[in-house]
Amino acid sequence: MSWEKNVRKVVPYTPGEQPNRSNMIKLNTNECPYPPSPKVKEALKELDYEKFRLYPDPAAAMLTDALAEYYGLKNTEVFVGVGSDDVLAMAFMTFFNGTDPILFPDITYSFYDVWAELLKIPYKQVPLDDDFCIRIEDYMGKEPVGGIIFPNPNAPTGVLMDLESIEEIVKANPEIIVMVDEAYIDFGGVSALPLIQKYDNVLIIQTFSKSRAMAGMRIGYAMGNEKLIRYMNDVKFSFNSYTMNTPALVLGTAALQDEAYFKEIVGKIVATRERVKKELRELGFVFGDSKSNFIFASHPDYEAETLFQALREKDIYVRHFKGERIKDYLRITIGTDEEMDTLIGVLKNYIK
Ligand SMILES: *Cc1c(COP(=O)(O)O)cnc(C)c1O
Repeated sequence: MSWEKNVRKVVPYTPGEQPNRSNMIKLNTNECPYPPSPKVKEALKELDYEKFRLYPDPAAAMLTDALAEYYGLKNTEVFVGVGSDDVLAMAFMTFFNGTDPILFPDITYSFYDVWAELLKIPYKQVPLDDDFCIRIEDYMGKEPVGGIIFPNPNAPTGVLMDLESIEEIVKANPEIIVMVDEAYIDFGGVSALPLIQKYDNVLIIQTFSKSRAMAGMRIGYAMGNEKLIRYMNDVKFSFNSYTMNTPALVLGTAALQDEAYFKEIVGKIVATRERVKKELRELGFVFGDSKSNFIFASHPDYEAETLFQALREKDIYVRHFKGERIKDYLRITIGTDEEMDTLIGVLKNYIK
C-alpha cells in the first residue's frame, strides 16, 4: 500500500485491564483503594460548569503554585501534566534528544521502551541483579549515554534504591539528564527531590494517581532546576498548550490542602502492606522488600499464570507480566484490609 511507508508504526504500551464488574476486587493497576480527600469532593461540588466554556490557564498556575508551595520550591521549578505519563513523555521528548543510547533497567515501567521507540530514541536496557536491584556501577558514565531513567521504588519490583546511590548516579553523569520516576515514593521511600538544589541535571517526576487517590483525574508533575523546567515548557507549548483541564487544576489543588488525609490513607496502605507481606510469606510466597503500594511475589510451587487465572475466576484482578525474567511473578496492588483478606482467603484455599 502506498501510504503505509509514511506511517509511524508503534507497538503500544498495554495498560492493565480496567474491568468493571460489581463486587470485583481490583488489585491490578496500583490505584488507591480509598477515595480522594473530602476536600476534593467539596471543591467538585463548587465547580462552576459555566467555566468549562473557557480554555483553562495554559500555565496551570493554580496547581503549579500549590505544588511549589507544598514542596518549598519556586513555581518555576515545577511542571505539571496529564498524569506522569504525559510528563514523562514530554521529558523524554525534551531531554533525550541525542544519539547515544539512554539507559533504563531491563525490568521496569514498560512505558519507557515504548516512548523510546515512538520518539526514535536509542536505548539500552540494563539488567538488574538477581535480587532485582539496580547495580549503580552500570550507570557510572563509563560509556557515552544519552540519558538515564528509572523509577524509585522500581516498578514492578517495588525495590527501593537509597538516596546516596541516586546521588552517585546523578553526580557521575553531569552531561546528561537523570530522571527519577517517583510514582510510589510516598509509600516509604526517601525522595531524591533535595538533589535538584545541588545538581542541574536531575528531574524528579511524581503523580497524584497512586498516593493521592486521583488516577482518574490525570495529574502528574516534574520538579527540577528552573532551566530544565523552562525547556520542558518550551516543548509542551510547541505540542499542546492546554494540557491541564479546569477540574484537574481545581481538584488537584484541593487535594494538596489536606495533608492529614493524605498521611492517613498512605499510613493505612503501608500498614496493610506490611501485614499482607507476613501472610503471603506464610503461604510460601517469596518477594523482595516492597516500599510501594504493591507486592511483586512468586511462589516456588505454583505458576504465576495459574494463580492469576485462579484469582480472576473469583473476580480478583492482579497483574501478571509475560517477560522472561518476571513471568513467575504476580504484582498485587495493596487494597483495603477487607479486600486483602479476601485475596489471602482465596489463595489459602488454592495453596493447600
Ligand atoms: C503508575 C505509574 C506512572 C504513571 O502514572 P500516571 O497515572 O500517568 O501519573 C508512571 N511511572 C510509574 C513507574 C508508574 O507505576
